[in-house]
Amino acid sequence: MPTKTLKILFLASEVVPFAKSGGLADVAGSLPIALKKLGVDVRLVIPYYQAIKKKNIDTRLIIKGLEIPVETGKLKADIHKTALGKNIPVYLVEREDLYNRPNLYGIAGDDYYDNIERFSFFSRAALITAQRLKFKPDIIHCHDWQTGLVPALLKGPYLNVDHFLSASSVFTIHNLGYQGIFPANKMPVTGLPLDKFFHPEGLEYWGNISLLKSGIVFSDSITTVSPSYAKEILTPEYGMGMEGILKRRHEFMHGILNGVDYNSWNPAKDTHITCKYSPGKMAGKRRCKEELIKEMSLDPALNNRPLIGIISRLATQKGLDILIKIFKDIFKLDVGLVILGEGDSNLEKRIKVAAEKNKGKMGVFFGLNESLSHRIIAGTDMFLIPSRYEPCGLTQMYALKYGSVPIVRAIGGLNDTIVQFDKKTGKGNGFKFYNYDAKALLISIKEAVSMYDNSKIWNKLRLEGMKCDFSWNRSAEAYMKVYESVLKKPKVV
Ligand code: ADP
Repeated sequence: MPTKTLKILFLASEVVPFAKSGGLADVAGSLPIALKKLGVDVRLVIPYYQAIKKKNIDTRLIIKGLEIPVETGKLKADIHKTALGKNIPVYLVEREDLYNRPNLYGIAGDDYYDNIERFSFFSRAALITAQRLKFKPDIIHCHDWQTGLVPALLKGPYLNVDHFLSASSVFTIHNLGYQGIFPANKMPVTGLPLDKFFHPEGLEYWGNISLLKSGIVFSDSITTVSPSYAKEILTPEYGMGMEGILKRRHEFMHGILNGVDYNSWNPAKDTHITCKYSPGKMAGKRRCKEELIKEMSLDPALNNRPLIGIISRLATQKGLDILIKIFKDIFKLDVGLVILGEGDSNLEKRIKVAAEKNKGKMGVFFGLNESLSHRIIAGTDMFLIPSRYEPCGLTQMYALKYGSVPIVRAIGGLNDTIVQFDKKTGKGNGFKFYNYDAKALLISIKEAVSMYDNSKIWNKLRLEGMKCDFSWNRSAEAYMKVYESVLKKPKVV
């Protein structure tokens, strides 16, 4: 007897290759492809942002004027269709006034004033689109606060809607630091009845609404993006105020490490780099380094010294404050540093000042630049991630594949993927420090630099990293187990 095809409605606020601000987009762009390979009928819904329109991708209008309930009545959305990979349907929710803006979530560090309207509308439009298209999902997989309303809608206004009777929700926390907090008087925007939902056991959070909490409380299963982070967020230090509710829902929670899309992140076939390379054929890596040094106007003498890379959102989470304290000590080691980042203008200013002081040794680029990010990972010897906290982190896994040795803080997914190198045994793939302070970071950098000087050891270390396999297959199978487990369990109402 043929087994029934699992149907998943996959809701995310950013998806590669359509729109991206961070790792969520990488995950939302590759996990569905891996699930499809496992036989799942997976379909995505995303907002039709200006950034997507500018890409001129092939889209087709499939529903004109779909009516979506809002606080004041109904608003219309147009639904367009495109594809992820070869044949995964992606539905784009178009509403000019909500999504046709220069950025995804806000401008210059400030959120758009109407984000609750934007993402409540999106959440409701996603459900109504599935209904209209007669796509009856077994699982609705929601990601981060932007879609955290959906599990609550399924337990409230949609509880008895025939189309969703057999749908369970899975909510993935990519970063607990972004909690979707809005004032209580915005409750009518959510479409949820106040009495059933706005209380401490619901989505009320210190007198406000938290759409992240909504996802945590009302989903049938919760996942987060690494086993270590799944444990850390149960503590007051990393739980960011959500540790109580997370502990209460602990039995429904799973830590699944993100994977890497090795079609995009592979030095043997990367279209962003001119010289391809692979283990055993490493000459191209040296050429990538030479080209990066030229591109960033660095001193050519650095071709024979360690070149360290950073690609990061400029946010407190990422640990750049401890790095800034030790720029002077780092340059005493006769190394080069390349930083690609976007975000906090204050951090940007401080990095700019250091770059001016250290011309020829330090190259910076502020802004989002996908192509440069590949060239930095390929052209550097070491890759630095000193995060204060890190749910999973993708760049350390990319760096491993490109033979750029990670130096990381031992936290979250960084701790799960990087094994401290041991010179005696030759085992390990990078360097880790534990305490969140500049001194500990500097010790780790010094240790890495001292290994670089011994080319035999360094080559071994690099190759250890390049051999690591973090492909999506394993993680997709872990998600399948989560989906199967919620389908078997009675729903939490
Ligand atoms: P987070 O999601 O917290 O930002 P991750 O390490 O999970 O961190 O993912 C970050 C993703 O964003 C990676 O794909 C990284 O290469 C990319 N990225 C970060 N900053 C930039 C930038 N300025 N330009 C291009 N890509 C960037």
